[in-house]
Amino acid sequence: MRSYGTTKRVMVTGGAGFLGSHLCERLLDSGADVLCVDNFYTGTKDNVAHLLPNPRFELMRHDVTFPLYVEVDEIYNLACPASPVHYQFDPVQTTKTSVHGAINMLGLAKRLKAKILQASTSEVYGDPQIHPQTEDYWGHVNPIGLRSCYDEGKRCAETLFFDYHRQHKLRIKVARIFNTYGPRMHPNDGRVVSNFIVQALKGEPITIYGDGSQTRSFCYVDDLVEGLMRLMGTPDDFTGPVNIGNPGEFTILQLAQQVIELTGSRSEIVRKPLPSDDPLQRQPDLTLARRHLAWEPTTALTPGLQKTIGYFSTLLGKT
Ligand code: NAD
Ligand code: UDP
Repeated sequence: MRSYGTTKRVMVTGGAGFLGSHLCERLLDSGADVLCVDNFYTGTKDNVAHLLPNPRFELMRHDVTFPLYVEVDEIYNLACPASPVHYQFDPVQTTKTSVHGAINMLGLAKRLKAKILQASTSEVYGDPQIHPQTEDYWGHVNPIGLRSCYDEGKRCAETLFFDYHRQHKLRIKVARIFNTYGPRMHPNDGRVVSNFIVQALKGEPITIYGDGSQTRSFCYVDDLVEGLMRLMGTPDDFTGPVNIGNPGEFTILQLAQQVIELTGSRSEIVRKPLPSDDPLQRQPDLTLARRHLAWEPTTALTPGLQKTIGYFSTLLGKT
């Protein structure tokens, strides 16, 4: 039902996940009504349990590969497993979530004339041959490899967003999110920051895949959420795609050393085989984000890691 007040009703799919739960929190702080939709595939109720007492927050169990009939003004479409371990566990479902999920959420946005934002990814650039990556780069993606279910699913979702925009005049926003970390990452998530911190805190070996010379640029979650909300607030003629991430680039070996130093861990570093199609380098060019969102990240790697280590220390009972 349309509300009679002026409160904006915002839906976050994947809202019980790592990024989604922080986004729900910030949207509530901004005064919005928030509908969090999630099938708890990789997210958990625990991530949003603290929001449940808020009367402006609603939690709905739903799989976005099926149609959804609700009434909202804005949609943030984040539903999709994001860690390679999780998205490769059931690759067919991963593609369905990106593609059918996009079709269902775009259909909903079309009926409601709602604004819709897609959580796309730096993975659309694949193993990039230009560096840093600008949004006009079309990418270098293997269509049949182990990462393809995620990369190609997200690329197809971008296609659908732009076709709905051209064909149905939908108001769309596409964010290409680069590696983001912070509290509420799942401890067994498999992504590098959570893996290294959990390993360091438990005194277990730190697992570097390959020789550790591959690079990533790590964005702290609060910066990322600010970027997404600013993107949603841009004028209708700005659709993106726009890179959102932190340009500070580190090798995986440097990250391991930094985590060991900050945790004071005695963990040793061990090497494991590099997974196939693992991108060699990744760094966002933020020119567009600076210009259109007046945004750039403010949390450097060290303070961001300290906050994340604090979170995992409490979670693992190490404080
Ligand atoms: P996450 O796994 O913590 O969150 C994804 C959420 O989507 C989970 O709560 C999960 O249960 C839910 N979900 C999965 N399939 C669903 C389905 N079919 N129906 C309903 N809900 C479903 O991951 P995250 O890091 O929070 O990522 C959120 C979004 O941001 C994803 O779309 C991801 O591709 C994108 N992204 C994240 C990063 C990053 O570094 N964190 C980088 C690039 C893009
Ligand atoms: N990685 C690693 N050890 C781990 C987990 C990941 O060396 O325990 C590497 C992985 O091979 C990749 C980088 O860290 O080169 C980032 O991996 P992640 O899964 O976090 O994200 P993505 O590869 O999707 O950027």
